[in-house]
Amino acid sequence: MKKKEEILYIVIPCYNEEEVLEETTKQLKEKIQKLINDKMISDQSRVMYVNDGSKDKTWELIEKIDKREKYFTGISLSRNRGHQNALLAGLMTAKNYADIIISMDADLQDDINAVDEMIEKYYDGCDIVYGVRSARKKDTFFKRTTAEGFYKLMNAMGVEIVFNHADYRLTSKRVLENLADYKEVNLFLRGMFPLIGYKSDKVFYERNERFAGESKYPLKKMLSFAWDGITSFSIKPITLIFNLGITILIISTLILIYSLVVKFLGQTVPGWTFIICSIWIVAGLEMFSLGVIGEYIGKIYNETKGRPRYIISRNLVEEDKKGDK
Ligand code: UDP
Ligand code: MG
Repeated sequence: MKKKEEILYIVIPCYNEEEVLEETTKQLKEKIQKLINDKMISDQSRVMYVNDGSKDKTWELIEKIDKREKYFTGISLSRNRGHQNALLAGLMTAKNYADIIISMDADLQDDINAVDEMIEKYYDGCDIVYGVRSARKKDTFFKRTTAEGFYKLMNAMGVEIVFNHADYRLTSKRVLENLADYKEVNLFLRGMFPLIGYKSDKVFYERNERFAGESKYPLKKMLSFAWDGITSFSIKPITLIFNLGITILIISTLILIYSLVVKFLGQTVPGWTFIICSIWIVAGLEMFSLGVIGEYIGKIYNETKGRPRYIISRNLVEEDKKGDK
């Protein structure tokens, strides 16, 4: 099994979070100290704040905390790039220093006590541990329904994501090294980890209220995030167009038969059959052609991502060499 006391980095993207940072630091300091005392992680472990081009005093605060606190450090982006990019920047930086990386939000809405269980699962051999919200009692009704609708929509659209899991997760260093091979620019991180594979598990926790500051994910941003997730992960919408085209073509055949019958029964005005049949057949053909073109675009889209085609999880040749077999 893996050796104990590995280096943990907790990565936290922060955008205009001056109101929460001190409290977050206080709680995480206790947590990290306890984990070190319990010999679960190394003394080299750190909490890494990622300043995502904040317009308030967030970065000044991070610098201050970095000077004052042993276990805290930070990086700053040149401008606001959004949660997913900030998180990726943090993960890619942290993987150079850490063995285990956990990502969470600055507002600690996701219970930090789940960290212990995540680390235990890591030592049990998991490479990815997903934090899953077991209850959203403290979310408003609106946030809860829209957020859960988001997961359902994503699944219906063929994006494989873990239900009620956001970006609170543990990953091993090698998972992030693999993630670096996914060159896509439109990021939807929570959809990418299931693609990487390896042994994974879930840890359940209750989601709390934001203790200060306000949500940076209002409905408008959430909708555009969902749309981003679908369009950067799935070509199902194109397949839907293709299927629609075929359906209309089938309907148009039925209409053709119907209008011919009506015509021979002599119940139409001249020209009606021709117009009705043309409309349906042309519309069906158009939709069908769009679908065909779309299928090719879908293929191009998948090729441009240049995602790895496979990841090897164990290589006994290498292991045998190390073990002097
Ligand atoms: N965040 C960020 N850049 C942005 C927007 C948000 O780094 O452009 C961070 C934010 O500071 C927080 C996390 O993303 O740590 C999640 O945001 P928030 O808590 O507002 O979202 P909610 O929990 O309401 O969905
Ligand atoms: Mg939040």
